[in-house]
Amino acid sequence: MSKKTRKFKTEVQQLLDLVIHSLYSKKEIFLRELISNSSDAIDRLRFESLTDTALADAGREGRIRIACDKAARTLTVSDNGIGMSAEELDAHLGTIANSGTRNFLESLRAAKKAADMEFIGQFGVGFYASFMVADRVEVLTRRAGAQTAFRWASTGDGAYTVEESERAEHGSDVVLHLREGMDEYLDEWRIREIVKRYSDYIAYPIAMEVEREEGQDADRRKVRKDETLNAMKSIWKKSKSEVSDEEYKEFFHHVSHDFSDPLRWVHFAAEGTAEFRALVYIPSQAPFDLYFRETRHGLHLYVRNVLITEDCRELLPEYLRFVKGVVDSSDLPLNVSREMLQDDAIIRRIRKGLVARILSELQNMKDGAAEDYLKFHAAFG
Ligand code: ADP
Repeated sequence: MSKKTRKFKTEVQQLLDLVIHSLYSKKEIFLRELISNSSDAIDRLRFESLTDTALADAGREGRIRIACDKAARTLTVSDNGIGMSAEELDAHLGTIANSGTRNFLESLRAAKKAADMEFIGQFGVGFYASFMVADRVEVLTRRAGAQTAFRWASTGDGAYTVEESERAEHGSDVVLHLREGMDEYLDEWRIREIVKRYSDYIAYPIAMEVEREEGQDADRRKVRKDETLNAMKSIWKKSKSEVSDEEYKEFFHHVSHDFSDPLRWVHFAAEGTAEFRALVYIPSQAPFDLYFRETRHGLHLYVRNVLITEDCRELLPEYLRFVKGVVDSSDLPLNVSREMLQDDAIIRRIRKGLVARILSELQNMKDGAAEDYLKFHAAFG
């Protein structure tokens, strides 16, 4: 395939113009979005490798890597996830007018506030946040199972190019050529701080090459080595005393794409008829799509730390569809299919346990924190 130049869909370009000219001050959120995409890409590969034996080895050890190149002024986020084919590059990073773009543009116009850039991830267009800090973005990617890699590149002004390329293994590198004045994103400590703030709970190691001094006196020398920046332990696997309110809130933003603070959360391990761990949240505001039946709702379902689906509706009755969070079960088989979930006895037992806990939390709130309850009622009643 020779190099092809394609125009962005009008809505995507409108979005890019807004992102590029935004005066939004918390530009650092671009990194949260890229890391979250990498983590999703690894989740997807692990899920596919459960059923596709050809990929069995590929999904084993997910990792994310950040590299800063001060001379070239680039910041690169790499993963060994599922990668993208040429068609997927077109579909996901360019031409298709997805409803997310439109919804995001509408929300920005309605709010007329730069501050709302924070919500970009909520609309499924987080990748484009990169253009807040970069004047050129390249994505080198190879789909798991395929031999050919592709390079997508754009300066955000109307068009992007896609050409064949090479990459040693499956996965993606997103290379940001930083704008003038964005040198802070080449700084190890700054990157470390951002990763800690937004991405500490990501289940895969996020590594960065750092420079350290080692040895004594005359032997002192600089060495470069990889360091893992995130704690990595799945938050729902920790005990309550190990998790701060800040971490709970940040994880809520991650699972719900809702950037307001949750009203309440319930974190527990159930034993007995169904064994599972759950961390579920009651949001403080209704999502923009609460009343669209077809849009995604449901809980993230993990089976022994592998993400099976992000929107398991079977875990909650429809009237509790505003509840967000995660359920991790070790009773379900790893190769459970989404169809199987619909009428599974274990799922039904988990659902029963969950509903009981959520309703009792709502009752507690009504009895003990009337103000919160009124807020809840106003948003969801
Ligand atoms: P969202 O991640 O919410 O869908 P984005 O704009 O951030 O929205 O990304 C658009 C799509 O591009 C993703 O849904 C995914 O299919 C694809 N994508 C982005 N980054 C990666 C990556 N690192 N590996 C594989 N696919 C990716």
